[in-house]
Amino acid sequence: MQSNSIEKEDFDLATCFEKGAEGCYKQVGEGYFDGYSHFSIHEEMLKDRVRTETYERAIMTCPALLKDKIVLDVGCGTGILSIFAARAGAKHVYAVDNANIVHQAREIIEANGFKDKITVIQGKVENVTLPVQQVDVIISEWMGYFLLYESMLDTVLFARDKWLSPEGQLFPDRAAMYIASLEDEEYRGEKVDFWDNVYDVDMSCVKKQVLHEPLVDTFDSRLVNSNACCILDIDLKTVTIEQLQFANQYSLKVSKKDTVHALASWFDTFFSFTDQGPLTLSTSPFETTTHWKQVVFYLEKPLPVYEGDSLHGSIAVKKNT
Ligand code: SAH
Repeated sequence: MQSNSIEKEDFDLATCFEKGAEGCYKQVGEGYFDGYSHFSIHEEMLKDRVRTETYERAIMTCPALLKDKIVLDVGCGTGILSIFAARAGAKHVYAVDNANIVHQAREIIEANGFKDKITVIQGKVENVTLPVQQVDVIISEWMGYFLLYESMLDTVLFARDKWLSPEGQLFPDRAAMYIASLEDEEYRGEKVDFWDNVYDVDMSCVKKQVLHEPLVDTFDSRLVNSNACCILDIDLKTVTIEQLQFANQYSLKVSKKDTVHALASWFDTFFSFTDQGPLTLSTSPFETTTHWKQVVFYLEKPLPVYEGDSLHGSIAVKKNT
């Protein structure tokens, strides 16, 4: 039995997701809301049935929490979650988004007969004025790759602190991140060792940068060769923006004689309060794939391991300035 230590700190998430990920998530900084103004990114999210149906189930199975309540939808997009809340009997829904998709949201809401129940407000949540002092419920689909990329949770916490009544409810109300080790020789070959010999040209200097960037992708869950360790577990009712930057230890137990090429991470969000018991929206490799996929951090060198080995390390997550 051996004990290994892996330090995975200072991965450059911003660089990764700007260049490496698909679709409109490429839009960061100034272009962030331009990305969300086009229907294509909303199409991708709406077609993610795991995502959208879990929200729908959570909202529709809590009549007591929503009936005759004032709801704020933080980042309403097409207005889908606002419409679910209105269908669940909300007294009024304030649907806020800064992207131009709000023009469509207004039409969608009117076409579906909810014009009197849902008010769409265009603007940054941090800047808008609501016609009410308090709301009973905040619904939001704020999760980014690696849970925290995009930092939209900051916006939800801002709204919570400004408008949510003390006994109010957040949908979802809890989130957790996990890490596990991964055998990934084939993909590592395609993405990393590829640079060793490109048409007989040595481009191996590029490998350093490749290894520095996490990769957003799916993998076969059979390649996971350890248990999963929770690296963050947050109660959205109480977590602070400062706590979203963290450095935590992890400890993994290797499940078979194998090689570790990478650490993989994913997240779950929870609706712990529904009438049918807790509901989980999971992006685990062991569950149906979502548009968030998983995030893979390659080790500099593959690490041979035996069943029962312990892998210890630390992971630090901080915002890109
Ligand atoms: N609720 C919709 C869209 C989720 S995507 C759905 O579930 O399908 C997140 C949305 O939040 C995007 O449309 C984005 O423009 C919006 N958003 C992100 N940060 C925001 C902010 N600070 N103020 C207003 N809208 C924001």
